Amino acid sequence: ISTMRTPFHFLTDKYITSLIRPRGKFSHKGTYGHALLIAGSYGKMGAAVLASKACLRGGTGLLTSHVPHTGYGFIQSCVPEAMCSIDASDLMFTEFPDLKSFSAVGVGPGLGCKSNSQRALKELLLANPQKLVLDADALNILSQHEDWYGLLPKNSILTPHPKEFERLAGETADSWSRLLLQQWFSKNHGVIVVLKGAHTCITFPNGQVYFNTTGNPGMATAGSGDVLTGLILGLLAQPYSPEEAALLGVYLHGLAGDLAMKQYGQEALIAGDLIDHFGKAFLELT
Ligand code: AMP
Ligand code: MG
Repeated sequence: ISTMRTPFHFLTDKYITSLIRPRGKFSHKGTYGHALLIAGSYGKMGAAVLASKACLRGGTGLLTSHVPHTGYGFIQSCVPEAMCSIDASDLMFTEFPDLKSFSAVGVGPGLGCKSNSQRALKELLLANPQKLVLDADALNILSQHEDWYGLLPKNSILTPHPKEFERLAGETADSWSRLLLQQWFSKNHGVIVVLKGAHTCITFPNGQVYFNTTGNPGMATAGSGDVLTGLILGLLAQPYSPEEAALLGVYLHGLAGDLAMKQYGQEALIAGDLIDHFGKAFLELT
């Protein structure tokens, strides 16, 4: 990557296909990692369900979804493939299981920003998970504590939409300044930033910038981002490297959106349809 002359790249089918590693005949579920997803709170359990399903369809060997007590039955019945870790709190994220058992951690969808969850997120950062993806309320919490930015494990993947990025990094006058700010943010904090939009832009700590070329406005719908977080987590856990998981996840997510659009059109497309098309998206690339 770093040998290329310009730091700006567009993702192509060919390049993304080259990243996908076929499964070994004698592999088993233990070969493909164990993801921990921390998501959901009272009234926002749908985000945890979408991210959990997307994570499994992303190819992780095992998934544990950590949810508040209120979400227990919901996860067990909507995502029977996932194991459930139950928070001491009925309503929100206040603690997390021992990270030793997990090959990657995802945190944020539907989490809420209550003070107990803020404390728990700080503890999670201090526990220094080696592979981490942060989204949604995890980013909203983080942006309220700039002094925690230094706690972000190297090569963590942050997946803000434009408003979340503005909360994290500040306002900019135009899209060029925002791109430079994103590039600086990645370098300065040593993290991968996936700034989501029509052309999702991915910046790496080494200054490289990738623009996605898949996706359509049908994806501008509730839960679309939660699905991306789950997918990236599922890839990270296997393990794909954080760089690969970010590029592969964003491209596949958009490709699944394009395939889903052929079936439903843009208006009727909902986030769950994206997950249902992950299989076809993987098949198109292999
Ligand atoms: P979120 O706002 O967190 O739900 O994330 C929205 C997701 O949908 C991101 O992955 C965006 O890239 C995608 N998305 C939203 N609007 C568009 C669009 N107009 N074209 C392509 N992708 C989009
Ligand atoms: Mg979101």
